[in-house]
Amino acid sequence: MQTRSMQKENTEDVTVRQIELRCDEKKGEHHGGYINISPEWNRHFNAWNPAMKTRLVETVMLGRRMNPLWFIYSENGETSSVLDGQHRLKTILSFYDNGFKIVGKHLLELDPVEYDKKSFEDLNSDDKLLIKNYKFSVNTLPSNYESDKNKLKQMNFILNNSSQKHTQYELWKTLFMPINRIFKGYETQYSNLFSRTNYYSNRNNKREALTQEINKLLVFAELDTNPWPKCCTSTETLVQYWRDKIGSQEKDIIEYAKVNENNIKKKLNFMLTVLDDFMDKKIFIKKGWKIENFITVARIGNKTNFSSNRYNRHRKNLLKILKSEIFMEDPVELQKKLGCSSRNSKFQKILIINIDTLLDKELDMNNPENNRFFSQNQKKQKLKMQNGICTLCENKIEPHQPAHADHIIEWVKGGKTILSNCDILHKRCHEMK
Ligand SMILES: [Zn+2]
Repeated sequence: MQTRSMQKENTEDVTVRQIELRCDEKKGEHHGGYINISPEWNRHFNAWNPAMKTRLVETVMLGRRMNPLWFIYSENGETSSVLDGQHRLKTILSFYDNGFKIVGKHLLELDPVEYDKKSFEDLNSDDKLLIKNYKFSVNTLPSNYESDKNKLKQMNFILNNSSQKHTQYELWKTLFMPINRIFKGYETQYSNLFSRTNYYSNRNNKREALTQEINKLLVFAELDTNPWPKCCTSTETLVQYWRDKIGSQEKDIIEYAKVNENNIKKKLNFMLTVLDDFMDKKIFIKKGWKIENFITVARIGNKTNFSSNRYNRHRKNLLKILKSEIFMEDPVELQKKLGCSSRNSKFQKILIINIDTLLDKELDMNNPENNRFFSQNQKKQKLKMQNGICTLCENKIEPHQPAHADHIIEWVKGGKTILSNCDILHKRCHEMK
């Protein structure tokens, strides 16, 4: 038994005693005291699920040390109450009492077939001994921690914050690291961009909030809204999007990241440029417009196939339309217009549908007049109309000479892909133009 002095607080001499507790000491034989596992001030005990229970037993059987349990002595020193470790203690004692069976498929290291459906009494004597002799280390606090509820509260706070729980995103990341790494590579660029707005003022990348936003932006851009996917905007659904898309096999995730890295980067670069453009023109940087900005940029990416040329071609009109239809004086105005009582996920769904409709109308992608290139048929037809003559040098375009179709009003400036906007030129003339 070791003792360790803690800092003196007021006039009380506060000590923490560290002891070790074995499973078969559960009846309260440890240094003469009975252990109260469920003191009324402790939080309510919710039984762990079979996976957690199985893995705790596994940890014990592998002889791994856990974080210490925390007890508090009663005033007479005869009993102790559990402050931290209630679940672990109850689970292992329950197993020792044959209260549940191991579920093989949840084991991380032990043989899942050999140990499946085994309760304590089914184990061989070596395994039984491992459990019986497993030692929990215990920190025991003096009784004034129980009598002074404020002190108890402070201690609970320390115990609950010294090991912050993983967020949904952090749990996702452990398996989807190859994908997350791509988003992480864009942190600096996006953070530089956001530092020019009030979106992320004084915001650091705590718990990868920024990486998560970049991830979300890509998901918004990849969404195929017909039919509407389960995924929308919360972290849970973001996580679900990737699970549905790739599954949860490590090798599939590594493969996906490898094959799609360049494509993901292309999309993120495109959206970076468009966001940058929005901000340069001080168009949509008003406070409260973050989610609208994100959705708009992502949907522009989706509808233009992440083509900068296509974006530039429609840019002027798009910004005009979006400004009048979406980005109103006051964000609440838009909320009312879309018939939403708050800016919840329903609002975001409706917003995406509205923006998609505006973009579809403006980009009119199914209309051949908006195609990026003239078809072979158009080229042939136009050359015939020009009597086979190059409009620039006015010489004949011989069959063996390569010819180019040129937009008279440039395509990126809105010029249509129609015969009246087409010149057929020698390749060399076109390049000299
Ligand atoms: Zn020519």
